[in-house]
Amino acid sequence: MQVALCVTFVLSGTTSILAAENVGFDAVHQRYLSLRNTDLEFKRVPEWNKVAEDFISASWQEHDPLKAQRSLYEAAILFKTLAKNQQASWNQLRSVALLEELVGRFSEGTLADDALLAQSEILYSLGQHAQARELLKEIVEVYPSSDMVFVARQRLNRASAASEGAKPSRALPNNLPVIVLDPGHGGEDFGALGVGGLLEKDVALSISLRVKKLIEESERFRVVLTRATDKFSPLAERMHLANRLNAALFLSIHANASVHKKLSGVETYYLDNAADKASATLAERENKVGAPLGDLGEDLSFMISDLIQNAKLPESIALAKSVQRGVVRIVRPKHPELNDLGVKAGPFYVLVGAHMPCALVEVSFIDHPIEGSSLGSDQYRELLAQGIAEGILGIDRASSRR
Ligand SMILES: [Zn+2]
Repeated sequence: MQVALCVTFVLSGTTSILAAENVGFDAVHQRYLSLRNTDLEFKRVPEWNKVAEDFISASWQEHDPLKAQRSLYEAAILFKTLAKNQQASWNQLRSVALLEELVGRFSEGTLADDALLAQSEILYSLGQHAQARELLKEIVEVYPSSDMVFVARQRLNRASAASEGAKPSRALPNNLPVIVLDPGHGGEDFGALGVGGLLEKDVALSISLRVKKLIEESERFRVVLTRATDKFSPLAERMHLANRLNAALFLSIHANASVHKKLSGVETYYLDNAADKASATLAERENKVGAPLGDLGEDLSFMISDLIQNAKLPESIALAKSVQRGVVRIVRPKHPELNDLGVKAGPFYVLVGAHMPCALVEVSFIDHPIEGSSLGSDQYRELLAQGIAEGILGIDRASSRR
């Protein structure tokens, strides 16, 4: 008797595993529809979670790319819906992650724009308005012929009218020169760890978004970010984006850290492998991207030495100096203790292969007791952003005089 029971149990277990391994979009969608028709208020949580997980599996098993995208999209929208009833933040974050995955895996797919729109809605409801707006802009800029552009434009206009009071923002003309800003790190690459759990990747993104806003207010440049959300982006792809856009300038924005957590100040780098020991150590940390560089690491010094001859070195040094000057000039009046660590050379991988003047700014030390906690404040980030924006706009004036 016991044996028979055991066999039955094993058999039924095996059957369900096999069934789970063989789920395509159609089968899961069928289950989704029947549940949707019988559980109008999404009360049967475990069953809904199972359907969502099976949609995710289907997205990997489907050979039809449209069905694969659709599977991932349905899973994301399901978590978004479930968030209304229970575990709101968890389900919303789950949904955002899946939508981001969809855009990453199927960037050319028909649902990428829908995914960006859905993601933007969730981030907006989580109070992350700036990031939500960046996603809407991504729809307009990257998917100009998509059916979601109209909705995205409308929401952008509404959002800017709301955030800037009476002043409606004008859309920037498309023929303006482009500046690429690169918020360091992102996603699983946290960058340096700071005071009170502050992460370099978050500081870098927050400052970059502010710089973008300030520069675009001048109506002289369009600013494109290498990442507008907390997502991982390979170092090489960041510069590829700038080259592809034929950018006028590239600036990578980071926060610094030191071994004994005692150093403080701002420093700006241009690309050169003739660096001193401290610069080389910093570059080594910034060049790490969660995963080892592998072959890229070994090729780095060769690539740099090859590049030095071609890079716009004088313009890059001028950019670095102007950014450094701008930050010191704007921040010092309110923070007289700010150390001006100057402009330095360093072998930064993110700057390799640039067709345009490029630099990397380390705005402050995130692990210094005083400076680190300043970096956590909006006021300090805004000052840094103003300094960087002034430096960038200043270099343009300086070079156009020549
Ligand atoms: Zn960094």
